[in-house]
Amino acid sequence: MHAFYGNAAELLWRAHKEAQWASSQLSEHQAVLALPYPPSTALLQQLHSAAITAEHNISQLQLDIKTALRRRVDASDLQQRLSVLQAELRSSSTVPDLMRERGRLYALARAHFPELLRASPGSAWSGNADVNSKCQVWASDVGIDNGVASSAASQRGLLADGRKLSHFTSYTSVPSSGSKRVYRAVDADGHEWAIKEFDARHESHRRQLFRQVGLLDTLRHPQLAAVHAVFEDSRICGGGEAVFLQVPWYSGGDLAGWLGTKQPADRALADCVQIIRDVMLALQHLHAGGHVHCDIKPGKHSTSNVFLTRAGRAVLGDFDGVRQMDASLSMSTVTAATLHYLALEVKSGAVVQFTPACDMYSAGVMAAEVFGSVLLNDNQARERDVLLSGLQQEVPAWRLSATNALALPLLSKGAPTEPQRQCVVCAEVKPLSEGVLCAVAVEDEQHFNCDDCLAGWVCALASEEQGQKSQLMRQGGLVHCMGRGCGSGAFDAHTIAMHITPEAHALYQLAKEQVARSDESRRLQAEHNAVIAAMRQEFMTTLAANEAEQAARQGELHVVDTILTLHCPTCNAAFLDFTGCFALTCGTCGGAFCGWCLMPCGNNAHPHVRVCPSKVDGGTSDYHHTFDAFKQVQNVRRSRLLWVYLLGVGSAELRRAIERRLQPHLRDLGM
Ligand SMILES: [Zn+2]
Ligand SMILES: [Zn+2]
Ligand SMILES: [Zn+2]
Ligand SMILES: [Zn+2]
Ligand SMILES: [Zn+2]
Repeated sequence: MHAFYGNAAELLWRAHKEAQWASSQLSEHQAVLALPYPPSTALLQQLHSAAITAEHNISQLQLDIKTALRRRVDASDLQQRLSVLQAELRSSSTVPDLMRERGRLYALARAHFPELLRASPGSAWSGNADVNSKCQVWASDVGIDNGVASSAASQRGLLADGRKLSHFTSYTSVPSSGSKRVYRAVDADGHEWAIKEFDARHESHRRQLFRQVGLLDTLRHPQLAAVHAVFEDSRICGGGEAVFLQVPWYSGGDLAGWLGTKQPADRALADCVQIIRDVMLALQHLHAGGHVHCDIKPGKHSTSNVFLTRAGRAVLGDFDGVRQMDASLSMSTVTAATLHYLALEVKSGAVVQFTPACDMYSAGVMAAEVFGSVLLNDNQARERDVLLSGLQQEVPAWRLSATNALALPLLSKGAPTEPQRQCVVCAEVKPLSEGVLCAVAVEDEQHFNCDDCLAGWVCALASEEQGQKSQLMRQGGLVHCMGRGCGSGAFDAHTIAMHITPEAHALYQLAKEQVARSDESRRLQAEHNAVIAAMRQEFMTTLAANEAEQAARQGELHVVDTILTLHCPTCNAAFLDFTGCFALTCGTCGGAFCGWCLMPCGNNAHPHVRVCPSKVDGGTSDYHHTFDAFKQVQNVRRSRLLWVYLLGVGSAELRRAIERRLQPHLRDLGM
């Protein structure tokens, strides 16, 4: 009775819960049905414009303060208004409300109006043009179109899903030119990276990030920083999620550091020319692609966004300010640019749009700093002045373009004629011939693996860890592109031979030979296994002519299986795998044993092999010897065991019968 009562109560309770759940779902559904279609974004837009106005007022004030300071006018009044405005914005709920409303609309759409989020061409909803355009408008109102940008980044394989900050062994904060935090990080392989933190809670930061990634990815150039990966993790300082952009850490530091440590008297003209030429190449590429950098600066008056490789090649980084040329740029959007390098027409407010000529002016100011008071002869000085005055022309239309500048004698003399590439590993900029391009399917996205890195990689792959086959052998002697996540095929042996050092090639060659030999021994083993299997089969299925033959066959099988076939001393699995090192590891149980005496040696046979009494002289190292020596020593061992076995066979007639049957096997083994 008690049990029944309990069950009934439980059933009642469950029914009650279910009714509650159903009514809540129903009421929610009723509420959704009562919504206009598509759900109104009016509140969101209202909040959005309030936030924009506040931001605009603040940036306008900041600009006014800068102007006042430049004119040496008292700005304390403006300063105070600014701090009041900033405090108001902080205490008001505009921004949190905006984010909440956007989140609500997004959740609503995901649960009840999924078509609003899938209004991309090719989707199930794209057939209806009216629905489609309505959806697009709605989605962009809610500001969720950056999902498209993010998926583009992940399609390119840049959004590294599994990557976390823990991938790096250390990271330290470094000063950066933009508003984002930048860290210098070291990964497990000892490679250095710059990781830039974008606050994932800020819509604008996310947009900026994906725009930057998209840009850097489409604008690949040896003189532009290369995006290595994008990943999400929690922020390094403070709470919340962040998105990180991983680019190489250029080991030559930034141009500001270079200018600081190299006094003009110590600067070689060739180095200065190289740096300016590289910057011009980067700008030429950006401008040709319809982009303006908007923030070229070496760093004497700010932090730098021109970086140097170990060999002193310049690379342009930090693309926070980069804009599409056709987008109209109001002054307030480029206030990030450092005033000192700002083109005259922008400073004076004569133009409201940033153009390539503005970049060229900034580059001119930078070039003047780089050449500084470097000692030059008359001719060199003349050439320098042509460049500097050409870049800093007051009238934008008269200013040199990047292409013009590169054609000037100062920059064109001694310019590399060969195409240059940036190495995916060391980030050095080198001539195309000093490295290998991988064969990824996407054109223009091949990774450049420089000769030095390729040689280092081959050596690392070929190095043998204690008791383990080298990585190179485990991957069948194949060397692949070092680009992250690159799916291209292995480099061919000829290409590798042409591009690595003789030392690295010797290691590579050795590994290739070992692979070939272990392929050979694997083939032998397979053949051997087949022979034994066939013998067993025959033994089981066919009747021997008489009892004597039956006994002889039994003896033959025993000898082939237990004496002629080599076995792991630990697990008894058959093996025939030999690659040169006598410290062997069983492929079945992983146990180590000696290739000379087959003694089990725990998990590493090297210490024993070095002093094994069965070893014969003439090896290439304490552990290595030829395959012939291996066969020889094993045949001696087989003969001894066979002799002991045959001695134990009772009848001389049976012994002779077994010996006869064994002849072909012994011949195969060279015994
Ligand atoms: Zn390299
Ligand atoms: Zn590749
Ligand atoms: Zn074993
Ligand atoms: Zn070894
Ligand atoms: Zn031994």
